[in-house]
Amino acid sequence: MNNLIEILANEPPYRQKQIQAAWFDIKVRSYDQISTLPQSLRFKLANADFLTVAPTGVAEDKDDQTFKTLLHLKDGVAIETVLMGRVNKKLVGREGETRYTICVSSQVGCPMRCTFCATGRLGLKRNLTWQEILDQYRFWNYFIADNLKGRIDNIVFMGQGEPMLNYENVKQTINLILKNTDLGPRQITVSTVGVKAGMEKIVTDPEWPPVRFALSLHSAITETRQKLIPSHSGGFLEWLPEWSKQYHERFPSRNHFVGLEYTFINGTNDDDKHLKALVKLASKLGKVRINLIPYNSTDPNMLGSPIETIEHWRDELMKKDFVVTIRRSQGQRIAAACGQLANKQSEK
Ligand code: SAH
Repeated sequence: MNNLIEILANEPPYRQKQIQAAWFDIKVRSYDQISTLPQSLRFKLANADFLTVAPTGVAEDKDDQTFKTLLHLKDGVAIETVLMGRVNKKLVGREGETRYTICVSSQVGCPMRCTFCATGRLGLKRNLTWQEILDQYRFWNYFIADNLKGRIDNIVFMGQGEPMLNYENVKQTINLILKNTDLGPRQITVSTVGVKAGMEKIVTDPEWPPVRFALSLHSAITETRQKLIPSHSGGFLEWLPEWSKQYHERFPSRNHFVGLEYTFINGTNDDDKHLKALVKLASKLGKVRINLIPYNSTDPNMLGSPIETIEHWRDELMKKDFVVTIRRSQGQRIAAACGQLANKQSEK
């Protein structure tokens, strides 16, 4: 990237735009193919990386239309990213093409150490650059064009890493995608485990795009949350209602809500006391949508709650008029499901 910045420093700004447009054009696969650029500039760009991520083969879970790849980066580290076909018939496009969701990583590893998440066990290696985040999208865009029939219509920042700890690069990537594709902000979701500093920026930064927001809550009781999420910061649950008020003021459209994610760990956060606490907290957060998540195994000593428990929670929350869904898990056979991204090469 530095290379690219140096090369473009002496070029007029519209060159940057032409290059950006080419990144999103599936027919263009190298700087040399950008026909709008003068020959001399194309020559200079010959050694710049057109794609900053290099795949190592794509694992596929056919039954789930889910794909995962380990992408190698320039400095020898690697990240995982996932492509999920929407199996629901209603969501298949009119022309029969599949709509895909991509799950992108924002960091190499993750510093948050959530006990139920395999990525947390890797620790943090470094932040991704905006180009490395963007190139996960571009990689899947090419992959679909070359191998499948369909298009990406959803991006979730739920891969490896904590997006709110890499705020500027995540923002830059999202704004580039919004500018150069026909994806709208409601097709992009940023999920955080609850980094206060980042959440405060979202509600004050005029350049933060109106994308969907999701908070990995996992418990509305402090002691339990601390146990599941060692990075939990003191007073977070008490602070949340005030933040939520600011969020709704900043994004008042009727399409905006605070997403709450709740992963079910057997005997830990799934009894009636925890349900009551969630109802109480969620009632103070304005418009919310609650996503109940069956635990995907990452540790043989940890068990998920029975599906009956999760359905009981759904029914009780619906009775209280909350919008609530149970997340459908995809890609477990290739360790591509939420929480399973641990850079272990999966068998083809
Ligand atoms: N750091 C951010 C983004 C990572 S994605 C965050 O925590 O929100 C995290 C998503 O994967 C969250 O919704 C989390 O609940 C889910 N998740 C993590 N480990 C999981 C597991 N073992 N089973 C099911 N969901 C898991």
